[in-house]
Amino acid sequence: MNLIDVQSFIGGSWIAPDSGARTIENAYNGQVIAQAGRQSLDSDALLGYASDVGGPALRAMTFHERARMLKALALHLTEYKSALFDLSFYTGATRADAAIDIEGGIGTMFVYASKGRRNMPDSSTYVDGEAESLSRGGQFIGHHVCTPLQGVAVHINAFNFPVWGMLEKLAPSLLAGMPVIVKPATSTCYLAEQAAQILLNSGLLPAGALQLVTGDLGDTLNQLGGQDVVSFTGSADTALKLRSNPNLLRHSTRFIAEQDSLNASILGPDAHSGTPEFDLFINEVNGEISTKAGQKCTAIRRILVPEESLDSAISALTSTLSSITIGDPRSESTQMGALVSRQQKRNVQAAAGLIAEDSELIFGDPETLPAECADGAFLPPMLYHCANPDTAAQVHDTEAFGPVATVMTYRDVDHALSIINRAHGSLVVSIFTHNSQVARDVVARSGSYHGRVYFNNRDSMHESTGHGSPLPHLVHGGPGRAGGGEELGGLRGVMNYMQRTAIQGSPDIVSAIVESWIPGSAENVSSSHPFTRGFNELQIGDCIHTGSRTVSLQDIEQFANFTGDRFYAHMDEQAAKRNPFFPGRVAHGYLLLSFAAGLFVEPDEGPVLANTGLDNLRFLKPVEPGDSIKVRLTVMHKEPRTDDFGEVRWHTTLTNQRDETVAEYELLTMNALK
Ligand code: NAP
Repeated sequence: MNLIDVQSFIGGSWIAPDSGARTIENAYNGQVIAQAGRQSLDSDALLGYASDVGGPALRAMTFHERARMLKALALHLTEYKSALFDLSFYTGATRADAAIDIEGGIGTMFVYASKGRRNMPDSSTYVDGEAESLSRGGQFIGHHVCTPLQGVAVHINAFNFPVWGMLEKLAPSLLAGMPVIVKPATSTCYLAEQAAQILLNSGLLPAGALQLVTGDLGDTLNQLGGQDVVSFTGSADTALKLRSNPNLLRHSTRFIAEQDSLNASILGPDAHSGTPEFDLFINEVNGEISTKAGQKCTAIRRILVPEESLDSAISALTSTLSSITIGDPRSESTQMGALVSRQQKRNVQAAAGLIAEDSELIFGDPETLPAECADGAFLPPMLYHCANPDTAAQVHDTEAFGPVATVMTYRDVDHALSIINRAHGSLVVSIFTHNSQVARDVVARSGSYHGRVYFNNRDSMHESTGHGSPLPHLVHGGPGRAGGGEELGGLRGVMNYMQRTAIQGSPDIVSAIVESWIPGSAENVSSSHPFTRGFNELQIGDCIHTGSRTVSLQDIEQFANFTGDRFYAHMDEQAAKRNPFFPGRVAHGYLLLSFAAGLFVEPDEGPVLANTGLDNLRFLKPVEPGDSIKVRLTVMHKEPRTDDFGEVRWHTTLTNQRDETVAEYELLTMNALK
C-alpha cells in the first residue's frame, strides 16, 4: 500500500507532514504504513483559530443547539464508520476491538447529545444547585452558575483507542462550548485523522471548533493560559512531565490526567468454584487480558483470589487463555490481535521482566507464537503468580500495557483490600460476589482508592457492561496513580470545560441570570389566565392568584370514602390529637392538591396539553375543617422539548386564611408553543 501522509488540521487548512515526520508501522506485519508530524508547528495559528473563531461560534450556541450538533455528528460518523474499521486493523485491533473504539466512541457522542437536551437548558448558562438565602428580608440571595471557559481545550490522547479516546473528550467539550485541539498519539494517529476528517468534512461543526495536530505539539503548552484546559491520557511519566510545565503551573491551567493504573479484580470469598460468580470472574479476567491485546487502561492487571481457590482459579484461567486464537486481526477467527507496534511489544516485555522480579510466569511463552505472528507486534496472554503480594513491589507498581496479569491470594476481605490499595489509586476494581456485606465493606474501606467499583454476580450477569468498559454516564478516572482526573460521568465531564461562579444579588437580578423565577422576584399578574397563553407567549414570573375555598369536614369525609384513604388523622379526632403533628382531624394532602387544581385550572381547551408531574412537594402545615385555601401559581421555568411544545415549571404555593403556606410544589405542564 502507499504510505499514508497523516495530515494536521490547523487554522482551517490541512497540512501534510514534512521532513520532520515520524514513521508509523503496521502492527501485524511491522511494515511502515504512514508518517506524521512536521519540523515545526504554527501554534499562533492553532490557538488563534480556536479562541478567535471556534470559541465565539460555539459560545453563541445554546446547550440544546450544541447537543443537536453532537447528535448530527454521531449520525454522520455512523454513516462513514466502515472507513474507520478498515484502518483499524493496522493498529493490531480485531473487528471486536475496533467496535469498542469506533462504535463505543460514537455511542458516547449520542449519550452526550441526549444528556445535553434532557439535562441542560436551552441557553448558554448552566445553573448549578438551588438558590441560597443570604438575608433575613429575602432581597439578597446567592446562586451558582457554570459558563464555558473562553480558551481552548487541548486533548492529548493515548494510542490505544484513537477514535473513542477522541470522541469521549470531544463530546463534553463541545457541549460545554469550548473549541478543541486534538493531539492523538502518533502510533495510531492515522485512524484519529480519518475520524477527524469525517467530522470536519460533515459541515456540521462551526469553523475553529475542532483542529487536529498529528506529530508534536511544539510549544503549544507554553502558550496556554487560565481559560484553557489540557486533558491528557497516557502514561504516568508523560503526565508528570506535562503537568509540571511551568507555564501551566503559573496560569493554573486546568490539567485533567487519565493515566496508567494497576486495576484489580477480586474473586469474592463466597465465589468458590461451581458458583456462577466463579465462572463470571474467569470469563471477565480472560476477556480483559485478551481484548485489545491487553492495551486498555482499565484492563485487569492484578487478580485476587481466596487462598483456597488458587488452584481452581489458575486451572480455569489457564484453560480459557490457552483457547484464545492469536493472529492476523483481519481474520474472523482471531480473538487476539497484535500490540500497536514492536516498540510497544518491547515495552511490555521489559515491564513483564520487572513483574517477574517478584512473580513467576505460569502461562504464556512469547517464543511459541504461530509463524504468521513472526513479523508483527504479537504477544501471547501472559499470566504470573505472585506468592507474596504483601511484600512484592513491582506487581503493584509496574504497568505492562499488554496481555499481562498476575494472580495472587488473600486471606479475608480486609487483606484483599490492603493488597489492592498498594497500587495507590486505580481506575476500576471489580468484585465478583453474591454477598452484599462484602460489597459494602469494599466500598467503605477501599472506595476512595478507585474511580469506579464494579460488582457482578448471578443477578446482574446478563446485563452487566463489563469491568473494562468506561460508560459515558459514569465517572471515568481515578485518584492517585490513576491521574486524579475525572472524565465522563454525564454532566460531570462537561463541567471540566466550564467555570462554576457564585453569583449574589437581588432576586430579580439572580432570576434574570438563571432564567428561573425565584421567590421574592417580580411577578406579573394580568387579567388573562396564564393557561390561555402558549409556551412562547408565557414569561417567567407570569402568575395567577386564585380565589379561596373553604375545606369542610364533609369534604374530608367524602374524599376519604371516595378514595378509600381513611387514615386515622382524617377520620378519628381523638387519634389525630394524639399524633404530635396534628391538632385534630385534618384534610388529606391529596385533597388539598385536588382542590388547588380546581382553583387554578382553566377548563377550556387551550395550549396546556398535559400535567406531566409534580416536583418537590411539601405539606408544611395541617389544614383543619373550616380553614380556607388559595393558590399562587407562577411560571418558574420554561424548557422547549420539541418543535411543537415545551415544558413549563410552575411554582405553586397553597396558603390558608392567615396567609401561612400550607403546601408548596412545582407543577409541570406540557404546553403547545402557541
Ligand atoms: P504516552 O506515551 O504517555 O503518550 C500519551 C500522549 O502523550 C501521546 O499522544 C503522546 O504523543 C503525547 N506526548 C508524549 N510526550 C509529549 C510531550 N512532550 N508533549 C506533548 N505530548 C506528548 O502514552 P501512550 O503510550 O500513548 O498510551 C499508553 C498509556 O496510556 C498506558 O500507560 C495506559 O495505561 C494509559 N492510558 C490511560 C487511559 C485512562 O483513561 N486512564 C486510557 C488509555 C491509556 P506521541 O504519541 O506523539 O508521543
